[in-house]
Amino acid sequence: MSIDLEMSTPISRRQLFRVGLGDLRSLVTTESAGEAPPVYRPPGAGRDEAAFLQSCQRCGACVAACPYDVIKTFGPASGILEGTPYLVPETDPCRWCPEMPCIESCPSGSLAHGESGGVPPVAKVRLDLDACLTSEGILCDTCSHFCPESIGAIRMVRRVPVLDTDRCVGCGMCVHYCESEKQPFSLEPLPEPL
Ligand code: SF4
Ligand code: SF4
Repeated sequence: MSIDLEMSTPISRRQLFRVGLGDLRSLVTTESAGEAPPVYRPPGAGRDEAAFLQSCQRCGACVAACPYDVIKTFGPASGILEGTPYLVPETDPCRWCPEMPCIESCPSGSLAHGESGGVPPVAKVRLDLDACLTSEGILCDTCSHFCPESIGAIRMVRRVPVLDTDRCVGCGMCVHYCESEKQPFSLEPLPEPL
């Protein structure tokens, strides 16, 4: 396995802490034959990575359109991924903008709304309540507060966060802003399309 150190945004100390080496490896190119690297694409990319790689023009329009500068681009050492956009939700969470400028800017349709008009998730999170501050009796609702209002995937029930995985879009806001050092949230790639 080789790690691409030529990604457009350097890996920060905070990112290393938050993501961990195992997940870091999953964000970059691997040499494992036949293995599709689990990459988190911008909203609207869908789950068909092969189709995305074929249609994406590597124009950078989505990168330029994102008002929060959270979309990165794979560098020249990333093989077929070079020039394509990706997210690192743990350190640069997507705000799930109501207007979706990333999708609107995409000239190729590689980023697009779903058939129902909504935007499918980019990932999912898992919540380990044993690692949550509330398990220590600490009052905290940070994850619920930062989960985008339009999504509302985390509710506080009797002062404990309850995650609705069906509503979760994998934006990473809860992962990023969680104040527990035990990392109760883990980001999971979406399953491959059927
Ligand atoms: S939804 Fe907004 S924050 Fe998220 S990638 Fe698109 S433009 Fe950036
Ligand atoms: S639960 Fe977390 S990852 Fe899912 S939508 Fe809410 S803030 Fe985003």
